Amino acid sequence: MTRRATKIVATLGPASSDPALLEQMIRAGVNVVRLNFSHGKAQDHIDRARLVRDAAQRAGREVAIMADLQGPKIRVGKFAEGKVMLETGQKFILDATRTEPGDASAVGLDYKELPRDVKAGDVLLLNDGLITMKVEAVKGEAVHAVVTMGGELSNNKGINKKGGGLTAPALTAKDMEDIKTAMSFQADYVAVSFPQNATDMEMARQLCNVAAAQYNHKPHLIAKIERAEAIPKLEEILRASDSIMVARGDLAIEVGNAAVPALQKRMIRMAHEMDKTVITATHMMESMINNPMPTRAEVSDVANAVLDGSDAVMTSAETAAGKFPLETVVEMASICVAAEGAEDVALDADFSGKTFDRIDQSIAMGALFTAYHLGAKAIVALTESGSTALWMSRHRIHIPIYALTSKVATQRKMALYRNVTPLLMDTSADRDTALAQAEKHLKERGIVQSGDVYAITCGEPMGSPGGTNMLKICKVS
Ligand code: ATP
Ligand code: MG
Ligand code: MG
Repeated sequence: MTRRATKIVATLGPASSDPALLEQMIRAGVNVVRLNFSHGKAQDHIDRARLVRDAAQRAGREVAIMADLQGPKIRVGKFAEGKVMLETGQKFILDATRTEPGDASAVGLDYKELPRDVKAGDVLLLNDGLITMKVEAVKGEAVHAVVTMGGELSNNKGINKKGGGLTAPALTAKDMEDIKTAMSFQADYVAVSFPQNATDMEMARQLCNVAAAQYNHKPHLIAKIERAEAIPKLEEILRASDSIMVARGDLAIEVGNAAVPALQKRMIRMAHEMDKTVITATHMMESMINNPMPTRAEVSDVANAVLDGSDAVMTSAETAAGKFPLETVVEMASICVAAEGAEDVALDADFSGKTFDRIDQSIAMGALFTAYHLGAKAIVALTESGSTALWMSRHRIHIPIYALTSKVATQRKMALYRNVTPLLMDTSADRDTALAQAEKHLKERGIVQSGDVYAITCGEPMGSPGGTNMLKICKVS
């Protein structure tokens, strides 16, 4: 398989829960799976996490699991038939008190506050903006609306208000329960939906760390940027997070479609500058829900997300509920590879005028610089926490980075890092033994051969996180 730097995050759902299919999807390039806690019961996610770990093991890959919390997303309830067809011009009622399943005239709401957050004249967008309705009146707990753009509406689809301004807090009681579920299978990443500021992320981190303590685990946190209010707070949100997701679905509704491409570029640039990872998401290969081929526009969208510098591109319904989950991954992987071939390397510009106050970070940068100017075959980092690999991966370079770690949890987190292949290796031996083992490992995997030059970083004493203080340039004998 051709080497690919950009990672693929695949949302799992009914269309991707067969063990054999999941294994094929992983072999085809899925690096991270997303379990969307907006759908399904706790046990479904626990079962799916087990399936993923097993399939990854069979495929011989390390796959990270992302638990995506529902957050205060306002959603319709369920329909008697699973879905209804809404016609433009018809009336429709969103009723917070309704308990029976919905039909073509009304549906229940899982966010009971909606009637208090909207007024006559507001525009509501459903199913990522594919359906729109205008509020005519709020009567008690029921929002009466007229459909201004019809379409198919199915169970639990989201509702947004144009312009933003829904008041729900970022972490709901359900999210707090879901965090416990996610930590019970040691989800590697937890994605927080609709954070408004750094405090939301800090609170989520605290809840995660408390729930994960009994498993001696610490997940990484992803802030989903999807609220208008989060844009002016990007820097503080990034500082409080390990990663961000450009969650274009809800974001586009709140800020308007046209503003999103520029925001995507800005978010990716900021994430790189602040040594954070970034995922571009929503509607990337949407037409593949029903078709075996993406549209040209989708191909360009994925390619441009790669060229913008995304660590990962993500699939949503394409792999969760679509007809061609495997084909989607195969197509996406090949688009990434082709786009990466067109990337410029601007390493000298990246470094000019920069200073680093950390020894480990300057070693990481030294490795990149030397490997680049020497035309090395590979860059290798022996890493405990994964930070060395993270720093290296923030810069574009057409040389693969191999991160060797003794910790499975670190290996899984690094599955998201652009251009990093995470490998497991016992790094506890003394330095010379570890370096010799690393080379043996790389040779066995066909990564380097006799005569190849590679750069390797490590720390002495071995095995202490943050202790990288050595760079060695090796020629394979
Ligand atoms: P979000 O705003 O969090 O992205 P979403 O409803 O758009 O929520 P996605 O994860 O983007 O959900 O997935 C797209 C669609 O795939 C969902 O609307 C749903 O129909 C289906 N889906 C996803 N995960 C599941 C699941 N675990 N069980 C059933 N259906 C799912
Ligand atoms: Mg969302
Ligand atoms: Mg979605």
